Amino acid sequence: MLRRGKWLGAAAVAIVLIAGLIATAIPAQRSALAGVDNGHYGKKAKYVFFFIGDGMGMAQINASEIFKGTLESTDPMYKGKLNFAAFPNQGMQTTNSANTFITESAAAGTALATGHKTNNDVLGMDPSKSVKFKSMAEMAKEKGMKVGIVTSVSLDHATPGAFYAHEPTRKNYYEIELAMVNSGFDYFAGGGLLAPTGAKKNRQNVIDIAKANGYTVANTKEEIANLNPGSGKVIAINPGLASEEAMQYEIDRTNQYSLADFTRQGIQQLDNPNGFFMMVEGGKVDWACHANDAATTVRDVLAFESAIGEALKFYAQHPDETLIVVTGDHETGGMGLGFAGTEYQTFFNKINKQKLSFEEFDKAISEYRKVVGPGGANLNDWLPILADKFGLTELSDYDKSRLSAALAASMVEAKKRNSDPNSNLLYGTYEPFSVTVTHILNQKAGIGWTTYAHTGVAIPVFAQGLGGEMFRGYYDNTDIAKKLMSIMGLQYQ
Ligand SMILES: [Zn+2]
Repeated sequence: MLRRGKWLGAAAVAIVLIAGLIATAIPAQRSALAGVDNGHYGKKAKYVFFFIGDGMGMAQINASEIFKGTLESTDPMYKGKLNFAAFPNQGMQTTNSANTFITESAAAGTALATGHKTNNDVLGMDPSKSVKFKSMAEMAKEKGMKVGIVTSVSLDHATPGAFYAHEPTRKNYYEIELAMVNSGFDYFAGGGLLAPTGAKKNRQNVIDIAKANGYTVANTKEEIANLNPGSGKVIAINPGLASEEAMQYEIDRTNQYSLADFTRQGIQQLDNPNGFFMMVEGGKVDWACHANDAATTVRDVLAFESAIGEALKFYAQHPDETLIVVTGDHETGGMGLGFAGTEYQTFFNKINKQKLSFEEFDKAISEYRKVVGPGGANLNDWLPILADKFGLTELSDYDKSRLSAALAASMVEAKKRNSDPNSNLLYGTYEPFSVTVTHILNQKAGIGWTTYAHTGVAIPVFAQGLGGEMFRGYYDNTDIAKKLMSIMGLQYQ
């Protein structure tokens, strides 16, 4: 015992001495950082992955763990493991924008990409909409790193746009696309473009501008399969997109490329001696949560996790030079694990039985409305479909009365329906029957929702790799950008 204690004591003294020598040898490098100590004495991360689950808070993560457990085991208490939840460094970020405690994706994206607060709806600019904030992606590109932007929603959406555009409103899609094709970034992949010829369809097609700027535009399965490091700068648009130029929900995905596919392809396109920065957004976690559809939400979280798995494979080959940061931009839906009707129980195997997203189900309701019209709906027409597509076989009289009322509301055209404030409380702006079906199914599983918009809760942050310890603690979303800039050797501006 004595000998071992002596040895440990000597080792401790040696470590303190060595640490002291290193610390005194590098003060100049450390002070050059933007007020953030990266803890690595000037060593910079060469490969940086920034994963943003849009609308992904702790409830979405926990729900996905429990749901994954139902896929992997019949033990009702078995909890699945998400790769990023095991990262050694974890923290929490506050998400408020400059003007509200409940942010949205433009203000949140601006904070995460540039380190500055702005007002809701403003993209990469200050609240007065006169000052442009430089993003870490733009700085990385200037420094000679390659840059990639991957998202499951349209490439001009707020979260990806925050890394390359500066617009007074996130809705300036054409201007955001112009910024995208003029960014010089090396790899854009995922969804499409919302207004490639402008809001009035009278502008030069941005795809043509992209090609003139040297981009290889791949939008068929073959063209995407043929991409290789020699393709130069790339814009890859998944064929067979769903609404709003977004990729399909994972629960609906047929033969489309996945977020993981585009992440793997991105690594291939971006890997080079000067390093790279890649932002990957799981953009439809947010959309599914807006619609209060838990089954669609957790499937998209798992698709996002698979994309992180691709980064982890790269990390395994370059552990000393790679940093992976995973977070969300805000929580969406006020998702809660626990519901008044189920109290201390959860039954997540129930959402396992859902076979399609609310969006695909909406299409069937729309067809039905065309056939039966207002006043012609009968819930009995739908009971076999609810059993088959949602596993809803045991419906109480209360469930049926809610479903009948929602079905009747769905037979009214959306324009007339949304002017009714009570309808907005019950159904948001969603298809009443669809959202009532997912509410009932989710509640039976033990999942509740409070809103069709976002909430203001803090969001977890997970980090692994060089500089990962910087992400421990409780800080602001703008600090994430400052920490990332610091570890990449970029100057916060
Ligand atoms: Zn968002």
